[in-house]
Amino acid sequence: MTVAPEGTASLPEVVESKDGLRARLEAARVAGIAQGRPFSVGLVPTMGFLHEGHLSLARRARVENDLVVMSIFVNPTQFGPAEDLDRYPRDLDRDLSLAAGEGVDLVFHPSAEEMYAPGHCTWVDVEGLSEVLCGRARPGHFRGVATVVTKLFALCRPDRAYFGQKDAQQALIVRRMAADLDLGVEVVVCPIVRDADGVAMSSRNAYLTPQQRARAPILNRALRAAQHALESGERDAGAVKDAALKVLAEDPPDRVDYVEVVSADDLREPQVVRGEVVVAAAVFFGATRLIDNVLVKVP
Ligand code: AMP
Repeated sequence: MTVAPEGTASLPEVVESKDGLRARLEAARVAGIAQGRPFSVGLVPTMGFLHEGHLSLARRARVENDLVVMSIFVNPTQFGPAEDLDRYPRDLDRDLSLAAGEGVDLVFHPSAEEMYAPGHCTWVDVEGLSEVLCGRARPGHFRGVATVVTKLFALCRPDRAYFGQKDAQQALIVRRMAADLDLGVEVVVCPIVRDADGVAMSSRNAYLTPQQRARAPILNRALRAAQHALESGERDAGAVKDAALKVLAEDPPDRVDYVEVVSADDLREPQVVRGEVVVAAAVFFGATRLIDNVLVKVP
C-alpha cells in the first residue's frame, strides 16, 4: 500500500443526495463484483467536526473494507428542543481533508430536508435500552439515533458499520436494532480515544472554556476510581458508584447528571456486580454535557 504524504491525499467524493449515494454505491458494487471478488462496504456514521476518535473508526473501516463511506450529518431528530443543534460545531472542509488522510472514499453529507422528507413519521424505538442513562435526560434522543442509523443502513447497505465505545449506550442500541431488524450489518465497536490527560475526545469539547477544559479530566479520574474499586474486589454496585462520586466531589463539575454501574449487555443496574459492566457518567461543565465510561470485566 502506498501512503500519500500528509496533505496530498485526494479528497473523498462528497454526495449530498440519497439517490446519488445509492447510484454511486451500486456502481462501485458492480465494478467490484465484475472483478470477480467479494466487495465490502464499511460505513462510519458521524456528525462531523472530526477528531482522532472518528478517525480511529475510519482507519479500522479502511483496513476491513473495499469501500469506506463516512456520513457527516448533524441529525436534528436526536436533539431535544433546548439542545445544541444550531450551535453544534461544523467544518466540512477540514473534515474532508481529515477523512482523505484516512482513505475515506465517499462522504455522504445530506441536508436535513434530504434525509427527512416532509411528512416523515416513521421511527425506530429500541425499547428498554433507550430510556436509561443518557435517555433519561434526553428523551427521544435514541429514537432519533436509531432512526437515522436505520436510514443510513438502508441507503448504504454496508457490510460493517463502525461506532465508538465512547457512546456505549448508542453502540449497544445500534447493535440490538441491527440484530432485531435483521439488517445484516456487522456492528463494530471501537475503543475510546482520549487526550493525553484522559479526557475522551468529543466534538463538544470545543465548547469548553480553557478553565472548564482544565477541570474536565476529573470525569475520567472518577470512572477510573470506580474501575479500581471493581478490580480490587468491590462487588457492591453502590460502593463502586460511591468511589466515582468521591473523586468527583474533589472538584465537582457544575452538575452531575448520572454515575451508574450497569451490565454491559442490557444496561440494567445489578446490586452485585458480575460479568461485564460499564461504569458510565454524564456531567456538565457550564452548559456542556460530557459523557464517558469504562468497561470492566469482573471475573
Ligand atoms: P459523533 O460525531 O459524536 O456522533 O460520533 C460519531 C462516532 O464516533 C460515534 O460512533 C462515536 O461513538 C464515535 N466517537 C466519538 N468520540 C469518540 C472517541 N473519543 N473515541 C472513539 N470513538 C468516538
